[in-house]
Amino acid sequence: MDPRVQQFMAMIKARNPGENEFHQAVQEVAESLIPFIEENPKYKHAKILERIAEPERIIIFRVPWLDDKGEVQINRGYRIQMNSAIGPYKGGLRLHPTVNLGILKFLAFEQVLKNSLTTLPMGGAKGGSDFDPKGKSDNEVMRFCQSFMSELFRYIGNDTDVPAGDIGVGGREIGYLFGQYKRLKNEFTGVLTGKGIEWGGSLIRPEATGYGATYFAQEMLATRGDSLKGKIVCISGSGNVAQYATEKVTEFGGKVVTSSDSNGFIYDPKGIDAEKLKFIMELKNVKRGRIKEYAEKYGVEYFEGKRPWIIKCDMAMPNATQNEINETDAKLLIKNGCICVSEGANMPSTPEAVEVFLNAQILYGPGKAANAGGVATSGLEMTQNSMRLPWSREEVDEKLQTIMKNIHKTCVKYGTKENGFINYVDGANIGGFVKVANAMIAQGVV
Ligand code: NDP
Repeated sequence: MDPRVQQFMAMIKARNPGENEFHQAVQEVAESLIPFIEENPKYKHAKILERIAEPERIIIFRVPWLDDKGEVQINRGYRIQMNSAIGPYKGGLRLHPTVNLGILKFLAFEQVLKNSLTTLPMGGAKGGSDFDPKGKSDNEVMRFCQSFMSELFRYIGNDTDVPAGDIGVGGREIGYLFGQYKRLKNEFTGVLTGKGIEWGGSLIRPEATGYGATYFAQEMLATRGDSLKGKIVCISGSGNVAQYATEKVTEFGGKVVTSSDSNGFIYDPKGIDAEKLKFIMELKNVKRGRIKEYAEKYGVEYFEGKRPWIIKCDMAMPNATQNEINETDAKLLIKNGCICVSEGANMPSTPEAVEVFLNAQILYGPGKAANAGGVATSGLEMTQNSMRLPWSREEVDEKLQTIMKNIHKTCVKYGTKENGFINYVDGANIGGFVKVANAMIAQGVV
């Protein structure tokens, strides 16, 4: 490791003990940025890297609620307000039992650079709770969300901090959170994104992350005169991002052969077509069942406790969670002929896996670039809320496509190496950093 990175990381680890995912995210960025900062000393003198790795504010709070048996339950709520140099804090809320401070700090840190890449004026944040919505009734989810918002509302606002969905937070949860915010503040503002279409939401917002990651893949493939047509694609996850990535890849002529959840994955060699995808959407969004049921319904193979990367494919889209592709998975993907990885999830590849992809010089689009379509469309939802005027589906989709093209261009600008290889990791890290860093310098030491 570069000794400058090593020294910087020693400081980060000492200040943030035990926060492994946060260390991982910061290290990846430091590896791209430290050489760049050496060439641009104004960033070094202003200590921008040190400053962006320190959250502007962290809020941690108790979330008590009553379950259906009348028993008191206690969860912990968080909001990490990481950076507001280029706009109000913006980033999702995650509800999952694994949620802790380190995971949310990694997500908030990534969010700062991602939001900058979108070209829209949004700072970075992330939040959530260790509450597990799985197996809870609608009423329990509502009571949790109301309690969570009863504290969070003090720290957010349409010009201050605008949360959105993430793992475990979809339309249902945003609805309950928004209802409680409105009741407490007595104002109807665009304080959350991912809202229902009848009450301030944007068309294409549910689709945006999965569509965006597919548009990004299409841009990457185009640099090699290739496209998604005829490609075999392995997708992990079966939630929001995975569902719409499956839809868009299929629309572009690719064949998606896997879908997964935290219990295992299904392999459908004929491809998950529109009808089968409808089944997954109903299963996951309404019945809240397990992906295993797909295998039972369509008579395909189900792999309990396994991830899809053992299946031969041309392209992989990890759309479930962090660190879901390890070094062994990455090597197997390459061996099986995978030429493109577009990350719908945040930091789904371990550092060792990323190294495998970069050494093999495949098209590797890291999450902060490839999945930025979700937050970009949240930004478009904020614009529509401010104008009090909704855009059509076509208008939003066109803007999303333009944004994904621009993010790709930024990655090419900052990530192209002497031999012509595009290192999208460097491209996204440096491209996202420059705008935030310049804004921080302009705003003084704050
Ligand atoms: P959802 O909750 O809708 O879906 C998550 C999916 O991933 C589910 O299939 C879930 O399975 C699976 N999953 C979650 N945790 C694990 C785990 N520890 N191991 C294996 N599988 C797991 O979330 P989203 O689709 O919204 O988010 C997926 C990823 O995309 C996350 O990394 C998120 O941060 C990222 N992302 C999301 C954006 C958005 O707009 N929603 C924007 C940008 C990034 P199960 O049902 O069994 O839990």
